[in-house]
Amino acid sequence: MTVILRTLLSTLLLLLALITPASATVKLSTAGQLLVADGKVIEVAVMYDFVPFSYVEDGVHKGFVADLLTLIEAKTGARLKARVGEWGDNLERLRQKQVDVIADVSFKPERTSFVLYTTPYFEIPTVVFTDKAFGNYRSPADLSGKHVGVLRNIFYIRELRKRQDIRISEYDDYQTLTRALAFGEIDAAIQNLTSGYHYATQNAYTNIKMAGEFTLDNVGREDLRFGVRTDRPVIQSLLQKGLDNISADEWKQLTNRWVGVTSGDLVERRQTAALTPEEREFVKNNPVIRVHNEQTFEPYSFFENGQPLGHSVDFMRLLAQRAGMEIEFISGSSWNDYLEMLRTGEIDVMTNIVRSPEREAFMHFTTPYLRLAQGIYHREDAAPISTMDELKASALALPEGFYTYEVLGQQNGFSIQPTQDSLEALMRVSTGEADATIEIMSVAEHLLHKYAVPGVVGSNPHQVIATEPLSLRLAVTQGKPMLHQILQKAMDSLSEQEKRQLQQKWTGHGARSNSYIHLTGEELAWMESRAAIRICSTQQRLPYEHMTDNKTHIGLFADLLDIMRHNAGLTIRLVNVSNFNEALRQLKRGQCDLISRAPPALNDADISLSQPLLDSTLVIATRLDELYVQDFSQLESRTLAVLEGSHVHRYLAYTQPELSLHTYPNMDAAMTAVSRGEAFGLIDTLPSISSAIVTGHHSEIKISGELVSQYPALLATRSDDLLLLQIINKAIQSINAEQFETITTRWMRAPILAEPPNYRLMTQAALATLILIALMLVWNRKLARLNHHIQDSRNQLMTAHQELQVKNRMLEQLSTTDRLTRLRNRLYLERSFEQQLYKAEHDPDYTFSLLLVDIDHFKQVNDRFGHEQGDAVLTDFAAILKGSSREQDIIARWGGEEFMLICPATRIAEAEAQANHLLRAIRHHTFAEVGTCTASIGVATWQPGDSYKTLCRRADQALYQAKRSGRNRVCRQEYAPAEAKSKPATI
Ligand code: GH3
Ligand code: MG
Ligand code: MG
Repeated sequence: MTVILRTLLSTLLLLLALITPASATVKLSTAGQLLVADGKVIEVAVMYDFVPFSYVEDGVHKGFVADLLTLIEAKTGARLKARVGEWGDNLERLRQKQVDVIADVSFKPERTSFVLYTTPYFEIPTVVFTDKAFGNYRSPADLSGKHVGVLRNIFYIRELRKRQDIRISEYDDYQTLTRALAFGEIDAAIQNLTSGYHYATQNAYTNIKMAGEFTLDNVGREDLRFGVRTDRPVIQSLLQKGLDNISADEWKQLTNRWVGVTSGDLVERRQTAALTPEEREFVKNNPVIRVHNEQTFEPYSFFENGQPLGHSVDFMRLLAQRAGMEIEFISGSSWNDYLEMLRTGEIDVMTNIVRSPEREAFMHFTTPYLRLAQGIYHREDAAPISTMDELKASALALPEGFYTYEVLGQQNGFSIQPTQDSLEALMRVSTGEADATIEIMSVAEHLLHKYAVPGVVGSNPHQVIATEPLSLRLAVTQGKPMLHQILQKAMDSLSEQEKRQLQQKWTGHGARSNSYIHLTGEELAWMESRAAIRICSTQQRLPYEHMTDNKTHIGLFADLLDIMRHNAGLTIRLVNVSNFNEALRQLKRGQCDLISRAPPALNDADISLSQPLLDSTLVIATRLDELYVQDFSQLESRTLAVLEGSHVHRYLAYTQPELSLHTYPNMDAAMTAVSRGEAFGLIDTLPSISSAIVTGHHSEIKISGELVSQYPALLATRSDDLLLLQIINKAIQSINAEQFETITTRWMRAPILAEPPNYRLMTQAALATLILIALMLVWNRKLARLNHHIQDSRNQLMTAHQELQVKNRMLEQLSTTDRLTRLRNRLYLERSFEQQLYKAEHDPDYTFSLLLVDIDHFKQVNDRFGHEQGDAVLTDFAAILKGSSREQDIIARWGGEEFMLICPATRIAEAEAQANHLLRAIRHHTFAEVGTCTASIGVATWQPGDSYKTLCRRADQALYQAKRSGRNRVCRQEYAPAEAKSKPATI
């Protein structure tokens, strides 16, 4: 009978398997079909940092393995789910049979006791990376006497350890391993070729090289396979079937996509393009090519600190290297001049150029290497341009000779002002001399931000023909067709990976973001212990931050804080202060935990400073008729305005004690004093001064000099609050370059305007504005360097060790933690109750108590002070409960304004005393703005026969009684005999 039933059942399941949508192209065994029909998810442990095979980006599992899993799912109809983790943990999980499959495992005899292998899906050579000076690597004998780094638990570790003459260190991931080599901690790093190259190039560790392939007995290539737990042979054969049925074409696509190039190409990166004899002859006779380099076409081609820089500059250098040529960059001319120089053969190549029939008459174009979107940029107070007619009606500033200039110039009805370059075009829009410009968006955004060009915004209306994306190519002078041919060949020889790396370097898009934060156990415990992180934030400091009338926190800092909050799961409360000095006082007194903005040199032993959140400079603003201010030495006999209690004041008083500083309550007052001649100049940060000039319509004021080029924005904590500082630094690092870019651009270029400024007046002051912008040009060069610095440190992976364990703990904690109060939630409480119940039921001498706490008249708090204040009371209330409870007590938010405490090993009298102790602490607390609050508590103690429900009900009844008899008191609900089942009452 059972046999028949079983057969019936499997036939049914088989039928199901056949009609399920999974287009299972593979013929599976009966067991395999059952597995698929069952719909059970097969868990595959994968690595989070094994680029390009398996890694996490923006919270998504990506790479060769991710695609491979999808492919196998499609082939077999099985459901595979990637579980991301650290390699050592993954392997352990497989050993413990907590996951079904592990990816990227190499065959090793000793692993066969707990692994069923599939055949390899990839083989990567294992290689030795060394310092450039290391010399050749031929065999492990060359590592004798050296300090060598490997990945922890790597499959050949035992084999390697047999060699007593090699000192070995193990590292948790490839990133730290590569870094250790680059920083000289170890002499050589043994790792797989792909990861080694990835991290070396990503971080631009130019001092290391691939010295040779690493071979040890049995160790050659690193074979990547799936490993299946030994008690699931069906899964193993299912995966194997899936692998076997991947076609040659599909394999090729997979490897091309993720490994990009053949491994031969990886080994021999300094490969040369294969040139014909004629081409080689040409190179011999023309070893140097002359290439145009623009002044400010950032980030593609620009000239800074005496050097040509940018994506196209690197790109050209790469091509020249491939072709065996040298490049001389020709800088300092305008686009139109370069076109002429190309025509006459004075230069050989122009970069970033768009093809047009007219141009083709006198230059050869390569295939495109960049395709970039354009936008229309206009003054932010004007309506966006959304039709061709509106574009025609606008005064357009366009770089002379640029493609758009040429195209629109040939059409009727456009009024075009030629400019020297893109920056000048944007500036003209800013000063009101032109209505709009058309520019490549990445270029415009970059320039607007870098040069702090005020009041210009972009839009990208699709219906306006002029804003089609541009394909940029190289153009070679007509007279050198052979050079064109060679460059095209060199271009074709670049791998996708090389191109991607270049783009990432200069535009950062697609760069990996560290969007979640790994907190250590200690840090988590710290977060648990605080209801919310209180941040002292200063009012009236736009664009940095401001609290609006309806209590909205806006500005650069507010936006960055939002990201930090999200990434680190911070609970935050803002404490408004009028200035930095007040913030400092409050921080020291413990009324807040963090200051939103502190100066770089804060010589105070009680205070610690975070990493830079943002870089800025200190500038001086004076009347229009004053001259350029070089440095502080010119200011010694002058009266200088600073904002009262500001970090700038504090900074200057400490670092420049000889200055005579005069304080003013706000920007407007200070600027008025300057314009009246009461003070020579006002010193503050560049963003706040330029924002104040625009919003306050101070057209009589200009920025006259940069005084401190590195004046980053930092956060400050008390020095004894080390963990908070640690958490905040991690949170700062978690902001990725792109988010950072978007936010700074938004706030730097768009000061909030109270009312539209008088632009006629501003145009009259156009000359002054131009001086201002010219000055900005000079200063911001320095900013660029600093920016680079900060991004570098951001990109460095955090070196926390048990990253993954910690993350799991964090998740666990999140699911049992109440978001608002950071107390435990009901779920956790219920679990704890079960433990207590178990103990009580098994130990006749054991009992425990429940305290149900309810805030009195809490509705009135909300009604009178608003919901936000209500929330603040709840967080503070939670903190008091926590602070006044005993260590063993479990405190949870029961819901709304009710809290439940489990007091283990506590009898009723003791519980009642504890409840009264809590009420006293609450009574004596002054809640900010709200004043005093009271609460009522119901107490009940477990008696034999009590369940979760009956005990809670008694606590609730006790609470009700406390409320009814006047609130602000404790009542207890005695044991009700009717509920008893076994033991009689003992109290
Ligand atoms: P009583 O002393 O009788 O308990 O009076 P009460 O006003 O405290 O009691 P009631 O249960 O009528 O009101 C509780 C209020 O708590 C209602 C609700 O608006 C408010 N509340 C619940 N959860 C939250 C919260 O998360 N935040 C805020 N601000 N208020 C909350
Ligand atoms: Mg209530
Ligand atoms: Mg209440």
